Amino acid sequence: MKQTRHRKPVIAANWKMNKLIQEAVSFVAGFPKDPEPDQKIEVVICPPFTALQTVAEALRGTKIKLGAQNLYPKSQGAFTGEISPLMLKDVGCTYVILGHSERRHILGEQDTFINEKVQAALAHDLIPILCVGETLEERRQGQTETVCRSQLLGSLEGLDAEAVKKLVIAYEPVWAIGTGVNASAQDAEETIAYLRRVIAEKWGDEAAAAVRIQYGGSVKPQNIAEFMACANIDGALVGGASLESDSFYEIIQGARRGSERHEV
Ligand code: PEP
Repeated sequence: MKQTRHRKPVIAANWKMNKLIQEAVSFVAGFPKDPEPDQKIEVVICPPFTALQTVAEALRGTKIKLGAQNLYPKSQGAFTGEISPLMLKDVGCTYVILGHSERRHILGEQDTFINEKVQAALAHDLIPILCVGETLEERRQGQTETVCRSQLLGSLEGLDAEAVKKLVIAYEPVWAIGTGVNASAQDAEETIAYLRRVIAEKWGDEAAAAVRIQYGGSVKPQNIAEFMACANIDGALVGGASLESDSFYEIIQGARRGSERHEV
C-alpha cells in the first residue's frame, strides 16, 4: 500500500564551524533559489553565527529557511560570548540545532542544559532540531534505545504535547557522524520508530504522529533516498555533504525521489 506522508520532511544543512562569509555567499549564489518547487520538503541551512546575517539576506524571498547551530537559554544579559534566541529571531532564524553530539561530547553539554535551550527556543518561536544518538561503545553494549530514550526525555522534560508536535528530532548515531559510515536505513528506521513510541507513551499518539524525526550521520546523495523511503524518517540533518551546493542539492532531489517511494 502506498501511503501519503503527512509530515513535511526537513532536509537541514549543518555547516558546523565551516565557511567564511565569502564562502557562504558563494554557496548560496550557486544554489537554486527554489530547490524544492513543490514545497513537499522543507530546506534549511544552518551556517555558523558569523555568516547568519549574510545568508539571511541571500535567502530573502526564497522558501529556504535559516537555522542556527546553538543558543544560550536567556533573552539577553551578562553572558559573555553567548548568542540568545532573541538574537537568532532578529537575524531571521526559523530553526536551531540543539544537543548536537559535538556539543554533548566536546563541550560536555548535559540534558538539563539542553532542556533549558529547547524551552528557550520554543518560547521565542524557534523550532529546535534536537539531536540524540548513541556512541559506538553504547551501541556495542546494546544500549542504543536506553541512551536515546534518556537523552530524549531529559531534553524534553516539562514540555506539553503541543510543544512536542512543533519539534524536529534528529536521530544521529555518534559513530556515523562525519565518518562516512552511515547507519543502515533499516537500523535508523527501527530506532526512529522506537523514539516515536517513546513520544506516544509520554505525550500521546497525536504528538507522536506529528513530530518530525530525521536521520543524521554520513548522509550523501547516494543514500538519502533509502532513508526517505522509510515510513518514520522525516528527512535528514546533513553535515559534510551539505558543504558543497551541488551535493546538498542532489540530497534534496534524492529526498524527493525517496519520499515518493515511501510505502508502508
Ligand atoms: C551532523 O553534523 O549532524 C552530521 C550528521 O554530519 P555528517 O553528515 O558529516 O555525518
